Amino acid sequence: MRIRSRFSAATLTVTAALLGSLLTALPATAAPSLGTVAVGTGGAVVSDTPQATNAGLAVLRAGGTAADAAVAVAATLGVTDPYVAGIGGGGYLVYYDARTHRVSTIDGRETTPASAEPDLFLDPATGKPLSFPTAVTSGLSVGVPGTLMTWQQALSRWGRFRLADVLRPAEQIADQGFPVTATLREQTRENAGRFAQFGSTSALFLPGGQLPEVGSTMRNPDLAATYRQLGREGADALYGGSIGADVVRTVHNLPLAPGATLQPRPGLMQLPDLAAYRAPFVAPTHVDYRGYDVYGMAPSSSGGTTVGESLNILGNFDLAGMSRVQALHHYLEATRLAFADRNRYVGDSAYTPVPLAQLLSPQFGRQRACLIDPAHASTSPVAPGNPFAGSGGCSPAQPTEARQPDEGTQTNHFVVTDRWGNVASYTNTIEELGGSGIVVPHRGFLLNNELTDFDFTPLQAGVPDPNLPAGGKRPRSSMSPTIVLRGGEPWLALGSPGGATIITTVLQILLDRIDFGMSLPEAIAAPRASQRNAATTQVEPAFLADPAAAGLQQLGQRFAVSSTSPLDPTITIPPDIGVAAGLEFLGHGQVLAAGEPTRRGGTAAGVVAPRR
Ligand code: GLU
Repeated sequence: MRIRSRFSAATLTVTAALLGSLLTALPATAAPSLGTVAVGTGGAVVSDTPQATNAGLAVLRAGGTAADAAVAVAATLGVTDPYVAGIGGGGYLVYYDARTHRVSTIDGRETTPASAEPDLFLDPATGKPLSFPTAVTSGLSVGVPGTLMTWQQALSRWGRFRLADVLRPAEQIADQGFPVTATLREQTRENAGRFAQFGSTSALFLPGGQLPEVGSTMRNPDLAATYRQLGREGADALYGGSIGADVVRTVHNLPLAPGATLQPRPGLMQLPDLAAYRAPFVAPTHVDYRGYDVYGMAPSSSGGTTVGESLNILGNFDLAGMSRVQALHHYLEATRLAFADRNRYVGDSAYTPVPLAQLLSPQFGRQRACLIDPAHASTSPVAPGNPFAGSGGCSPAQPTEARQPDEGTQTNHFVVTDRWGNVASYTNTIEELGGSGIVVPHRGFLLNNELTDFDFTPLQAGVPDPNLPAGGKRPRSSMSPTIVLRGGEPWLALGSPGGATIITTVLQILLDRIDFGMSLPEAIAAPRASQRNAATTQVEPAFLADPAAAGLQQLGQRFAVSSTSPLDPTITIPPDIGVAAGLEFLGHGQVLAAGEPTRRGGTAAGVVAPRR
């Protein structure tokens, strides 16, 4: 076995043979049990499942970097968290390189097949937009996957090990199986109707046509074989090779089950679309919030600009000195305004001019901040600002006719750090819970429905929409993997799934930690509220129990709990907002790793050397 490395031979403390033996000595069943919070040294991982966190820890112990471990975690999530992760999807990686002290990002967002036109989601028979659920469960929604290219980019720039090595823990778990959790069974229930439409999907996730029993073993030997092939052939096996050919065949000849009642439209992807795919390194967004340097994801995600603009707005107020009602009111009003700007100005910057510097300028933040009325909630939808104009006075936020976009809500976020202090903050997804619902036959992974993150038609007549479909374009994302530096050193790394609520969840955790004096685990556990320029603010039920909620309502804030599936209003889903994962660097090599105590059934935090 060969170790790829930028490190000098003298710094290689681990041999490839040792890595191989350490990684193969990790049977899924023998993994140490993990809590939702851990403190220690030597590296740390927080992810959705204990198997994925343990896979990352195994790679760290074997001498891998945060990039090596991130690929191992992501690949394992493709097995144990299959409805939100995997090589059928895409995502964004933000990475702090301890050697250069720089934050970089990789844009691994899915792209649209070259032959797509702006009418991608219009019904040719009627010229009207397809319904969101119809578009999701179809070949049309499947974007060219970016996850595997992201892994390859990360390993080639920051890794010490080959793809084959870091895929090994995932391969093993896929072969041996893992116990089905109540969360996985519940997620299967929410999707059972559409999964049953596809023979390949029901064979994998509905054993015997039934929901998998909690505690039963779920195996995915097809995915293990796919990972082995990727280990042998590299990412080219997808971006032009036989795995790619299978993906293309699947989106054109949908693997419908006998008796399927849906007639989903096939997709447009061709092999040259896969061969043309790139996951570029992109400069991160940056804002200074009260002396903290907050780095995020630039377009094609709206995460970095919208979290950044909201922070620039809120930096004009002394939140810590306000009553809780006033501080939360300012939080809600800031994102109301920032979402108006996001929807109007942010899309794939290769296709639409995104005024990045203007949106992130403190001056624009001040211009928007002065629209906040401490005594009244604005009426949404409010109009976007003009980031090109000067301060323009301080007239109240204007209402607008603009429709709010439809967006899915499920992905995963995880964080990793290593013994050198490198940090990975990685949000990856197949978009909806269960993606398009289509498993590639004999390959063991679901295809994404990321293209439904486009606006199917312009949000407002006569106003340019930066997020309409086009060949090769990346749909706008909300993913907000974030790294915060203090005095030039990593201080926090965090992120969350949740579609457009990702932005508010990341922001709320930052405010809870920086302004409201909560610890990171408290900030992650705290009840969430998400205002996205809508008449009502989406909240978790526990938020309504906050004594501040009544005061906010007196200011005109309106709240609603959301607990039905975006794909089928008759299906109930947990009313949770986001599933965050975070790291806080405590100094002297100590790191605090924090996951969710209850959302998505609780997540898994671990450190290489726990503090005694
Ligand atoms: N499709 C979503 C986005 O890119 C991510 C998936 C989710 O968490 O909803 O913003």
